[in-house]
Parts: sequence; C-alpha cells; structure tokens
Amino acid sequence: MILQNISILYGNNLKFIEKTNVLISNGKFQKISSKIKPTKQKVVNCNGLLLIPGLINSHTHLGDSIAKDIALDKDPDAKINPIFGIKQKILKETEPRELIHYMRKTVKSMLKKGTTTFVDFREGGLDGVLLMQKALSNTPIRSIILGRIEYYQSKEQIKRNTPIPQSYQNQIDILNIISQKNRSKETRQSHNHIKTR
Ligand SMILES: [Zn+2]
Repeated sequence: MILQNISILYGNNLKFIEKTNVLISNGKFQKISSKIKPTKQKVVNCNGLLLIPGLINSHTHLGDSIAKDIALDKDPDAKINPIFGIKQKILKETEPRELIHYMRKTVKSMLKKGTTTFVDFREGGLDGVLLMQKALSNTPIRSIILGRIEYYQSKEQIKRNTPIPQSYQNQIDILNIISQKNRSKETRQSHNHIKTR
C-alpha cells in the first residue's frame, strides 16, 4: 500500500515532513520518499492528513470500562473511592466476562484513536491483573499493567508514613512478576525499575 501526499511527524524529534509518500508492505512502514511511484499497489490519497507515532496513554483504568462516566453529578469520593465508591460497587457486581467485553471495547477505541501503548493502574489485586491480561490476549496494543493491592491507608497513616503490612508487601512482588511476565525481554529490562503499587 502507498500513502500518497501525507505529512509526517518523523523520528525521535518529530521532524515535520510535508507531503511525501509512504510505502507499507508486510504490515510495516518500508520507505518514506516523495519519489515513490504508484505501482499496482493500493494507493490512498492522504492529502491534508498527518502521520504520527503511536500515542502512549500513561494512566488508564481499563478495568473500569464498564463504569465510565457514572454519577457525573456526585463528588469524586462517592464515585471512585476504592472502598465505598459507586464504581467499586459496579465492578464487584459485574460478571468477569462482561468486564472483559467492555475492556476490549475500550482497547478497540484506543487503537482507533492512535493509542498503541498504555500504562494501567489496575485494581482488584492479582485477579484484576489476570483478568486484564485475558482481555488483552490477541489484541495488538502494548501494555504495562501496574497492579494495585486492596489495601488503602487513611490520610493519617500516610502522614505518619505507616508501612504496608508484610502480607500485602508479598502481594506486591507477585503482582510485579505477573504484570511483566508477558512482555518481551527488552521491554522487561527497560521497565524493571517500575515498582508495582
Ligand atoms: Zn488513576
């Protein structure tokens, strides 16, 4: 396929290239040049369009897809407090397969809008992370899932810097391993410094 007359934000410095042609074959960008001549391949006129690198959404809550935009008139605590918020209630009372269905819908929507990578702050402990991995299987999107344990401190505890109980600390290690196990070796190496909280 050839994309004709397309402008590009190219490379690490997002250099602007105005109106050029792009050759795509075997699902990959092969060549960028205004000299690419149309052959028998499919040609798409992209006049007025801009080609950009895949976007990274560094803070998602994919697992909550079913409960987005709930109770818009309520204060944040009533909506998303991890203990008594409405969102939490909806998530607890929804079948896992329904949660997966809505997560996959969100992934489709992200890909359509150009998001190719995301970092998720997953709730629901180990089960939450595993459920998301299931939802993401066979999808081309890249992910880093940061698991969250079901333990929350009060403002006072945070001020006093109270340590997390040992039993929860063990869970953190498990989540860290699980959330990274499906990544490529290079991705794992580059993300090894990320602590799961
Ligand atoms: Zn958040």
